[in-house]
Amino acid sequence: MFGLFEDDVAPRQEADRAAFTGVLVVVGALLLAAAPGPAQARDVAGHGDPPRVHVIATGGTIAYTPDGSLTGEALVAALPGLERVARVSVEEFLNVGSSQITPDHWLRLSLRIQDIYRQQPDLAGVVVTHGTDTLEETALFLHLTVADARPVVVTGAMRPAQAAGADGPANLMNAVRLAADTTARDRPVLVLMNDRIHAAPGVQKAHTTRVDAFVSVWPGVLGVTDPDLVSWQLPAAPGPLRGAFPVMQETRLPRVDIVYAYAGADGSAVRAAADAGARGVVVATVGRGNMPAAQREAVNAFATGGGAAVLASRTQAGRVPVDPSGGIMGAGDLSPQQARVLLILALTTTTDLGEAARLFQAIRGPES
Ligand code: ASP
Repeated sequence: MFGLFEDDVAPRQEADRAAFTGVLVVVGALLLAAAPGPAQARDVAGHGDPPRVHVIATGGTIAYTPDGSLTGEALVAALPGLERVARVSVEEFLNVGSSQITPDHWLRLSLRIQDIYRQQPDLAGVVVTHGTDTLEETALFLHLTVADARPVVVTGAMRPAQAAGADGPANLMNAVRLAADTTARDRPVLVLMNDRIHAAPGVQKAHTTRVDAFVSVWPGVLGVTDPDLVSWQLPAAPGPLRGAFPVMQETRLPRVDIVYAYAGADGSAVRAAADAGARGVVVATVGRGNMPAAQREAVNAFATGGGAAVLASRTQAGRVPVDPSGGIMGAGDLSPQQARVLLILALTTTTDLGEAARLFQAIRGPES
């Protein structure tokens, strides 16, 4: 319900203009001008300036109230004790429901974060607040495009800002704690929801309303934000393909569409995608790469005509083997929506199916 309503009021978000002008807001008396020290400036006793974290707000339920959307500044200002965790600057990049986020936004957000990290060597980490509906797509795009070892943490909320039991403040506080923590370096782009730390590749929203909506089918939850510390269950590693596509030269990303398979599906959606100029098609297949014969025929024709066809599964978990030998490859463990993100970026660097398949193998590891 929240999602629908929020998307309906999406046009209020022309704060989009602010994306690159980067409205930096100083929170508290601290911040940028205060000649910030390095992220590790605190001494062993915990004294010294807390690390500096930059929050980039994009909207979503975390910001939603019936009277309009809260700014990132307001979200941060509502966090008690924040000044003991980090010195926080805030930027209003967008204020939209995440169903309105486009690949163009991904590109600009990634370039913005790369820019911030280049210009601010003393910054400990970046937090992106985002609607949960497409959060896993943006998070994977950032994972694949931002190479800096410092953390990028994406968070949101399942309950609106003023709802009873709103989860946004806790998620944002934990996301800032995580971004400020040196143990979050050299990791994948991270998704923080409901005290759990997920790697961007493999994370999925799996429920429309619950605060524990986010799951990691693989590689599993990386860690948790306990009240006193960030606790990791898996060792630090940037994860496959972190920052593999810096997208510095891209002004426009190739079109890739997702087509759903179901009993009785024919080839019309695949042909429509081709007619609309798609360079790639991801099929959300039934089971492990299956679809009705008529749809398969259209996919084959698309691939024979030079399109990139990738078979993911609508089943939510489990691999579709990548094996590209038949001219069409599987998505490994990636969901259709995350396979699309990788295919879009793969197509910025190659039209060779074998090379694209190597990327799909790499995102999960050799057994894909
Ligand atoms: N409709 C919302 C969105 O922006 C849902 C949410 O944030 O939880 O994705």
